[in-house]
Amino acid sequence: MINERMLGLGKQPNPIRVQFAYGLQRKAEIGEENVYDLSIGNPSIPAPPAVRERIEQLLEEPPEQLHAYTMAAGAMSARQAVADNLRRRFGIEATANQVYLTAGATAALYIATAAITHPGDEVIVNAPYFTEYKVMAESAQCTCVEVPMRAADFQLDIDALREAVNEKTAAMVINSPNNPVGCVYTEQNIRDLAKMLEEKEAEFGHQIFLISDEPYREITYGAEVPFTANFYRDTIVCYSWAKSLSLPGERIGYIYASDRMENAADVAAAVGGAGRALGFICAPVLFQRVIETCIDEPTNVDAYAENRAILTGIMDDLGYEYIQPDGAFYLWVKALEPDSKAFCDRAKAHDLLLVNSDCFGVPGWARAGYCVSADTIRNSRKAWAALKADYE
Ligand code: PLP
Repeated sequence: MINERMLGLGKQPNPIRVQFAYGLQRKAEIGEENVYDLSIGNPSIPAPPAVRERIEQLLEEPPEQLHAYTMAAGAMSARQAVADNLRRRFGIEATANQVYLTAGATAALYIATAAITHPGDEVIVNAPYFTEYKVMAESAQCTCVEVPMRAADFQLDIDALREAVNEKTAAMVINSPNNPVGCVYTEQNIRDLAKMLEEKEAEFGHQIFLISDEPYREITYGAEVPFTANFYRDTIVCYSWAKSLSLPGERIGYIYASDRMENAADVAAAVGGAGRALGFICAPVLFQRVIETCIDEPTNVDAYAENRAILTGIMDDLGYEYIQPDGAFYLWVKALEPDSKAFCDRAKAHDLLLVNSDCFGVPGWARAGYCVSADTIRNSRKAWAALKADYE
């Protein structure tokens, strides 16, 4: 018999992908330049040339060697490259044993959650939050508890989180730089969170894991991104090179279960067990080898910075309310009516494709991804203007 939950998920696919699919179809109908698809987080800048060079070099290797399985957690050389990178950049005593390579951040998140939760536990997320967190928590048979970020500054609301943590809390997920808002949590905010979680661990007598989802770590416009594992011992970092190296379709990322955890080796073993149980073993091997040498390639954010300036300029000119993003490549725009879905449908009528905020667990906003060409952003002005006019 078909699993009803899976059937439901399949029939109601991720709304971002629904918009994206519509965008492709619409572009074929009326021409690419007439559709302003700000729906999906596909980086618009190419991967650095070093990626191509490395692939070409790797293709010289004997295929039976190049394409062979690695260990479930990934090739030791690639895991070591990750540990070295973390050590160099953040001063954390990272070891390769605590690194597990994954098929992107999505696999990392699912594995991490499965490794440290039991059915009936609670997983706290900060709203607005990346759409898939809820599916992920529920797939581990946990309850997804949504706590709004502070409305005034989109930082973690420590008081509200303190209220939400209870003896069933197994984990909290944070994401900074943030999708969909673009906010970056300050060091003080992370310190306050760590202090609160430590107090709660002591109160309930068990670990509360912080799952830090960091695919946008390098995409900022001047803001410092504190490395969460330096502030809270029980941290599991989930990372992806989808955005920093513009490799979203190659499905390559990692889990780093902090070496500072008292039971670090057991957590790493549970991560391995969860990877096995979920079938996420041996991340795509060509790209394990690519990141081995490309891990220190700088992320070029110039194009996103330019797009951000153009888009916020349009918002200012037309009188839209929005949150100034400090990182990632999304603009969180206030919908012009309470029903975000209706607002996005109106935008769609002008071939402006946004994602409604209900997908991210809150009403009344919309997400505009500016990881597209600068011309697409510039040309979208008329659609934004027409959308505004609809409400006047
Ligand atoms: N987490 C966040 C916050 C994201 O925005 C995304 C992708 O957009 C992911 C996780 C998934 O990343 P990946 O494509 O590496 O699975």
